[in-house]
Amino acid sequence: MSKVLTVGEVLVEIVATTRGDGFREAQPLIGPFPSGAPAIFIDQVGKLGTPCAILSRVGDDDFGRVNLDRLVADGVDVSGIEIAPGESTGSAFVRYREDGSRAFVYNITHAACGRINTTPGGDALIETCDHMHLMGTALSAPGLARRAGEAIERIKARGGTLSFDPNLRPEMLGAPGLREALERVLGQTDLFLPSGEEIFLFTKAQDEAGAVAELLARGIGEIVIKRGSGGASHFSAEGRTDVDSIPVEEIDPTGAGDSFGGAFVSFWLAGAPPATALAYANAAGARAVTRLGPMEGTSNRAELDAMLASHVEG
Ligand code: ADP
Repeated sequence: MSKVLTVGEVLVEIVATTRGDGFREAQPLIGPFPSGAPAIFIDQVGKLGTPCAILSRVGDDDFGRVNLDRLVADGVDVSGIEIAPGESTGSAFVRYREDGSRAFVYNITHAACGRINTTPGGDALIETCDHMHLMGTALSAPGLARRAGEAIERIKARGGTLSFDPNLRPEMLGAPGLREALERVLGQTDLFLPSGEEIFLFTKAQDEAGAVAELLARGIGEIVIKRGSGGASHFSAEGRTDVDSIPVEEIDPTGAGDSFGGAFVSFWLAGAPPATALAYANAAGARAVTRLGPMEGTSNRAELDAMLASHVEG
């Protein structure tokens, strides 16, 4: 069975439980919850029983252990997570404004995950993996980007595959060299998983159909567009498949795209038809938003089957 690798930030999230225009109003706060987009993605892959691992770095502290314990429990190989004595695991604080939008305070610039190193353990791990999933955030720090680039080169050189989720916050786009790095990765991508408008980051096309056609012509085999509560669509040379979202009560949208991606990649690597992978990914995204905390809504196979069954009956 294919083994999936990802690389990037592992952090904790502290979440406000009431809405408010400042953290003083949005009390009380709860957490720490395990988090980091690549960590949520790989946790979802692990929960579905697909062999998987992550290259990352945490401090020798409680926040690091919160993540390591969860990832191990959910089946993720953590031998590529370096524990850095004297450094801190990253953290993020999130609250909802009165209008429902999210506001974050990040403590990740100087956190351990920003200084991922080439380690013998990490090198050995790359040799055991034959699929790489890259998140755009992993290209935002030079050390991380170098590590991601090495892993991609080696896995692709052995005939492995690459999936890519840009997952970019608008404020990151101006980072020096980021656009070139994103284009390089896109040129090696087999499965592209943008959210909504992200597809226009890589094309001058004016509409979605034009953008999809251009990217498929550039050699990307399959494209999956995530549309939040609007569902998702899959495109390849064989055509287009759409899925409506499963109606749920949205409690916390953080992690929906990562859970969706983890489920899609697991089913895709197992050889499932696009419609099947899309249905399970859609269920994983829907389940993710029903739980408070970014990684709390990742799902095992039985939970996804139950979600799909309740939707059919409902
Ligand atoms: P991202 O977190 O990357 O921006 P999206 O918000 O598009 O990703 O969510 C990913 C997927 O999760 C969607 O394509 C959909 O399948 C599912 N999803 C997201 N939000 C909801 C929701 N409110 N209700 C049901 N499904 C949802």
